[in-house]
Amino acid sequence: MGLSDSEILMPASGADAVRAFGDGRDVTVFAGGTILMPMIAYRRYPQRARTLMLGRAGLNQISADGNVAVGAMTTLAAIAGSGVEPLAAAARDVADPEIRAQATLGGNLCAPPSRQGPRGDLQAALLAARAEVRCAVAGRERIEPIDEFLAGLDAEPRLVLGVELERPRRAAYSSQRRPHAHSYAVMAVACAELADGVRVAAAGVAKRAVRLRSVERALADGAAAEQASAGALDGLEPQDDALASSWYRREVLPVLVRRAITQLGGG
Ligand SMILES: Cc1cc2nc3c(=O)[nH]c(=O)nc-3n(C[C@H](O)[C@H](O)[C@H](O)COP(=O)(O)OP(=O)(O)OC[C@H]3O[C@@H](n4cnc5c(N)ncnc54)[C@H](O)[C@@H]3O)c2cc1C
Repeated sequence: MGLSDSEILMPASGADAVRAFGDGRDVTVFAGGTILMPMIAYRRYPQRARTLMLGRAGLNQISADGNVAVGAMTTLAAIAGSGVEPLAAAARDVADPEIRAQATLGGNLCAPPSRQGPRGDLQAALLAARAEVRCAVAGRERIEPIDEFLAGLDAEPRLVLGVELERPRRAAYSSQRRPHAHSYAVMAVACAELADGVRVAAAGVAKRAVRLRSVERALADGAAAEQASAGALDGLEPQDDALASSWYRREVLPVLVRRAITQLGGG
């Protein structure tokens, strides 16, 4: 089955998109297409009755006066230039200008896990910044804390409309990737200082990005970067994939955490 076997829906607003998405059970949401287009080329496009093209739904605004609101269709290029950290650093780190001009926030948040390697690097930055996700589930709009949203993604289809967050006081981002612009980041760590403390999250160590709560607790107790990073792997079992082995991830994650905390200027 390819894209041409699917009914194409092109909503003209967010409200239209929510209606067209319905319960989302037989719908593929198509955003920038940087993950879906290769699936079409390799004949692995999801076999679903309808494809919801979001390009004309007007979900591409970004507003950063006071609190930050970013529409689901905002490109990574726009986020990279927004100055909203650690989101901007995470967006700058993805692939090359061509991909970033096409790839969207919503597609990154919902990027399905792949055996070839992890993806969805902005998830770590959004977790660290305690973003809230504006989404539609079964025809109803709701706002979900990012942790809840990521945990629920496989349970019930969600249409992402945008994210909202308080601008962090300080932020840092550190990643490990190969020099080639078309390679995916192996792992990434994001830190953000909010009114009630520092949050730390990592991408590339589990199916989707996760908070590093032991590190956060150590920082809250006044630990320095070296000491706090020792707990980076608590509760995590990184897997082997085409990008790196579990062993490599175990060795490198604490280093990335240490770098990010140092870049932040401590907890
Ligand atoms: C060469 C190359 C390098 C890359 N490097 C990286 C990297 O380093 N890090 C990284 O994170 N990613 C990387 N990517 C993957 C990809 O570009 C990004 O994850 C991108 O943000 C995906 O967004 P998109 O709009 O293109 O998604 P699409 O391809 O349109 O969709 C991706 C998935 O998200 C779903 N989806 C999209 N929008 C929504 C929405 N609003 N609501 C619900 N579901 C939605 C789609 O149904 C699909 O399952 C790379 C891709 C390429 C081709």
